[in-house]
Amino acid sequence: MAKVYYDSEVNMDILKDKVIAILGYGSQGRAHSNNLKDSGLKVILGLRPGGESWKRAIEEGMEVYEIETAVQKADIIMFLFPDTEQAQVYKEKVASYLSPYKALGFAHGFNIHFNQIVPPPFVDVFMVAPKGPGPLVRQLYIEGKGVPALFAVYQDYSKNCRDIALSYAKGIGATRAGVLETTFKEETETDLFGEQVVLCGGVTALIKAGFETLIEAGYQPEVAYYECLHELKLIVDLINQGGINFMRRAISDTAKYGDVTRGPRIITEETRKEMKKILKEIQEGIFAREWILENQVGRPVFNALLKQDEEHLIEKVGKVLRKMMPWLKAPD
Ligand code: NAD
Ligand code: MG
Repeated sequence: MAKVYYDSEVNMDILKDKVIAILGYGSQGRAHSNNLKDSGLKVILGLRPGGESWKRAIEEGMEVYEIETAVQKADIIMFLFPDTEQAQVYKEKVASYLSPYKALGFAHGFNIHFNQIVPPPFVDVFMVAPKGPGPLVRQLYIEGKGVPALFAVYQDYSKNCRDIALSYAKGIGATRAGVLETTFKEETETDLFGEQVVLCGGVTALIKAGFETLIEAGYQPEVAYYECLHELKLIVDLINQGGINFMRRAISDTAKYGDVTRGPRIITEETRKEMKKILKEIQEGIFAREWILENQVGRPVFNALLKQDEEHLIEKVGKVLRKMMPWLKAPD
């Protein structure tokens, strides 16, 4: 079993006199900066002047600078803005302000692993990647809990980089839940695979295919929505809480029998073969190259595919049905 680090095994001494610059005040940036500050660490923000985040960060009591200034003032520079922007910002606003013993931190390995950012040899490079969305990283911290995280060291110039990464993970509350060591390669490849095959791509394709099958057979869209989308959360919550067997204890024997006999007919050998193909595209950098090029030409395929799904019947039906369940609190 892999070694998991918890609160009692990590102290934050190494960060005591360090200035941490968080670049970005979005999903992760807002959570990390507030959590680190509440953990007693010195946090500044590096943002674009005049932007929405700039205003919000100041309103929320943060010390805010332009990115170039924050990089100069900081010992640790954490990249918490979109992965697709990081390489350019690094080149224009970070690289020339780096000096020996500064540390660069990431919450996802993409740009380092795929060589979009190539740091000089005289800095530390680490990753702390929370395994959950930013707002939850903040909310659980406030509640005295935490979101688990992965950490990794890519470049250890100071010989303290591992300590810095673990301390940072503690500062955002991750060691309360458990922190696991990985590499930039492993985190990047498994993260991309997970979101493509299971969490995002797999789940949305499964929901839509189930919904469409019922609609084509003449069932009411509303019934199909409840069955294929709404109830998913209830099942996933149980799986998240106690695993697959625990979830099965909560469903009827009929549901369980359908589960174990029909599930394997949905994820077939052909599906597994496709999973392996997708993994290979990730490992060989084919996906990364495709996504970088797609961004360079203004995202035509990405935008068209998203638009198509926004207009799907399941979205229209869902919008009406969710109005009757205001406690779901989905922002429109
Ligand atoms: P985000 O989209 O929420 O970032 C928004 C912030 O980035 C804003 O403050 C915005 O002003 C700033 N920003 C946008 N473009 C910029 C630019 N060109 N220059 C400077 N600032 C810019 O980002 P996020 O979802 O928090 O992701 C940050 C990092 O965390 C990424 O590496 C991502 O892979 C990783 N991560 C995210 C999540 C998540 O839940 N969102 C989970 C794990 C890891
Ligand atoms: Mg991910």
